[in-house]
Amino acid sequence: MQKLVFVLLVVFSSFTLTTAQTISSPSDFLGYDIGTQFSRNHQVIAYFKAVQNQVPNQVKLVEYGKTNERRGLYLTFISSEDNIKNLETIRENNLKNTGLLEGESSGNDVAIVWLSYNVHGNEASSSEASMLTLFKLLTEKQDLLKNTVVIIDPSVNPDGRDRYINWYNETASLPYNIDRQASEHNEPWPGGRPNHYLFDLNRDWVWASQVETQQRLEVYNKWMPHVHVDFHEQGINEPYYFAPAAEPFHEIITDWQRDFQTEIGKNHAKYFDAEGWLFFTRERFDLLYPSYGDTYPTFMGAIGMTYEQGGHGMAGLGILNDEGHVLTLVERLTHHTTTGISTVEMASKNAKKLNTEFAKFFNNSNLKYKSYVLKGNEDKLNSLKTLLNKHQIAFENATKSKVTGYNYATGNQGSFNVDGNALVVHSNQPKGKMVKVLFEPNTKLSDSLTYDITAWSLPYAYGLDALASTTKVSSNTMASKKSLQVLNDTYGYVSKWNSMKDAQFLAELLKQNFKVRFTEKPFSANDKTFERGSLIITKGDNKHIEKMVSKLNTIAQEHAQPLTEINSGFSQKTPDIGSPDIKLVNKQKVAILSGEGTRSLSYGEVWHFFEQQLHYPLTSINTDDFGDTNLNRYNVLIIPNGNYRKVLSEDNMTKLKEWVRAGGKVIAIDGALRSFAGKDGFSLSYKDSEEDDENKDNLTAYANREREYSNNLITGAIFNAKVDNTHPMAFGYDDNYFTLKLGSSAYSLLDSGYNVAYLNDTKVYSGFAGQNALNSLGKTLVFGEERMGSGSFIYMVDNTLFRSFWENGKLFFVNSIFMVNNNAYEL
Ligand SMILES: [Zn+2]
Repeated sequence: MQKLVFVLLVVFSSFTLTTAQTISSPSDFLGYDIGTQFSRNHQVIAYFKAVQNQVPNQVKLVEYGKTNERRGLYLTFISSEDNIKNLETIRENNLKNTGLLEGESSGNDVAIVWLSYNVHGNEASSSEASMLTLFKLLTEKQDLLKNTVVIIDPSVNPDGRDRYINWYNETASLPYNIDRQASEHNEPWPGGRPNHYLFDLNRDWVWASQVETQQRLEVYNKWMPHVHVDFHEQGINEPYYFAPAAEPFHEIITDWQRDFQTEIGKNHAKYFDAEGWLFFTRERFDLLYPSYGDTYPTFMGAIGMTYEQGGHGMAGLGILNDEGHVLTLVERLTHHTTTGISTVEMASKNAKKLNTEFAKFFNNSNLKYKSYVLKGNEDKLNSLKTLLNKHQIAFENATKSKVTGYNYATGNQGSFNVDGNALVVHSNQPKGKMVKVLFEPNTKLSDSLTYDITAWSLPYAYGLDALASTTKVSSNTMASKKSLQVLNDTYGYVSKWNSMKDAQFLAELLKQNFKVRFTEKPFSANDKTFERGSLIITKGDNKHIEKMVSKLNTIAQEHAQPLTEINSGFSQKTPDIGSPDIKLVNKQKVAILSGEGTRSLSYGEVWHFFEQQLHYPLTSINTDDFGDTNLNRYNVLIIPNGNYRKVLSEDNMTKLKEWVRAGGKVIAIDGALRSFAGKDGFSLSYKDSEEDDENKDNLTAYANREREYSNNLITGAIFNAKVDNTHPMAFGYDDNYFTLKLGSSAYSLLDSGYNVAYLNDTKVYSGFAGQNALNSLGKTLVFGEERMGSGSFIYMVDNTLFRSFWENGKLFFVNSIFMVNNNAYEL
């Protein structure tokens, strides 16, 4: 007996010994004390892999995707041996609880906590914290894992992280310099925050325009965690922010979600208080815009939270802040580790309650609007369906009927007839709350001070006619499939022109050296009318292409592009195909300014648009090189949002104007218009506020300064613009267009030039706009063209590529490149 006890003791103690010994600490593994160096992304992943090899029964690493720069994206599942063994059952039970997976759940008392680190690449303390968090969970905090599955994404944005860290490592002095003027505290353009295409991944959860988001959503939808934390950093003088979040909260957020994030916050506070660390809650970071790493999970039922440590790209390994404190990386990662563990602790303590409350969230029988009905352009409907599929939101086809409800186009009650081509999205489905968030006409605001845009309603963004109905609209799941007919050998072929899909088709034809015409006037042939912008591909124009018909057929099939055959150049209703009103599309050579002065986000939006959406070549020219650049090699120069005071010096401005006079085309976006407004030779001018500010007494109380200032703001609101769709920039559009206004900049209508789209009135269809801002917005420019010599300046006051989600605006941009002032000449 004694012997047996002895043996057991030996076995037991050697077991605990080996467990403790075989898990390397981050410092041991990395070869430096954690926080004394920045770890490059591959080192972080290598640590997670090493720990997986050391405790394979408790750690499971899965590669869920790759970035644009081919770095791996990983999730790490950490739990007890039992839970790791039953991981798939736990996952399925969780989905069954929500109704997202058919079948009866065999019961789940396991909490699922997902921790996302380093979504902003230069907020680099968090991936360091992810390693320490992993280590602590597997050593001192084993108990928490009995009823909790922790999912760690150590690096949501590895391309951005490495951009920052590689720069820091090659720049920093030894030892690090705490003087903030030192170069190691001043990142060069574009900084490490965004991903490869310079998109902010913490604004992309819903739009999923980026590969990182697309791949993450697939695994996110499989797991649907109960708690999601996005780790960030803020300015070096702000200590630490954690939940509860600030107002406004979106109204679909439940009492449970509000209460439990407060409980989690109080738990963090306990640890911070014990150490005497400063923090704040309930200020600044709200829960409204759905595309964040806190709101998106919240609207998918989780307790979604953002934690912000002071630091950011400026902080480096150590920096002296305004309060005389030397803020170090060690301190930053310690705080993030503390809140990470505290979150897991709260989830573990409340695992049962988390599961029951999570399940309740997915009951959506009480939402006001029961169905959203959308009709319109088939390509636009398809592109919306693609988005819904990314979120696994269910949709159906309408059955033929008359539908009544809130009409998005008028902002009033109305009705229209629908057939099987119309799309119906019901709110009584597991993801019904997200349906409401994305489709409702106007988001309820409990506070006008918010961190982000206040309008994104999908019917406006996709340019579709829509009704929101308070009764369920009848629908079915019948899918209609159309196949394209094979092209016959004939005189020519005509394509419609009203969607991004048509634009991609044109881009492909141009790349393959097809000569393509477009019509500036509607014409009829074969009893069909073709609207302005329609593309015409004739055999006569394309004799240089071998087996032209078969090649065109292949491209049309690949793009699912329907073409109408015409057997003669003689039209039923003019213009004929040889008319001067039917012009050759020039194979435009397009350049864009990048680098210092340009807003990196805006540059990234255009870059991504050309490479990943339009699939057409683009030459990027650094603003430093602009003076030496031979512009004559390009037809179009895009100037993204930015500040060009330095770049467009007198000499460079003269050079730009001369190039335009000779036939060049400038497309200026958003803030880039400031370079031309009110300047010599330009018709573009600012519109001043009509209110007479001098007669207004300034009696604003100091405490109300922020609120008062919001009167001057537009924080992303939707307006209805009048459109001159006879102008090539508006080909493919109706005579009105819902535009997303991102700010209060107002430009007068052009005296000499074309006002292609403009605001006639200032009715706000969705979102927040302060009264002062609205006062100056009537009769202002949205899109315009000003001629100079043979060339043009094209003004886009509203940025249609903003975060790549305003689908219906993208064709204005394509038209500006290929159709406006089309000088068909080869360079
Ligand atoms: Zn951040």
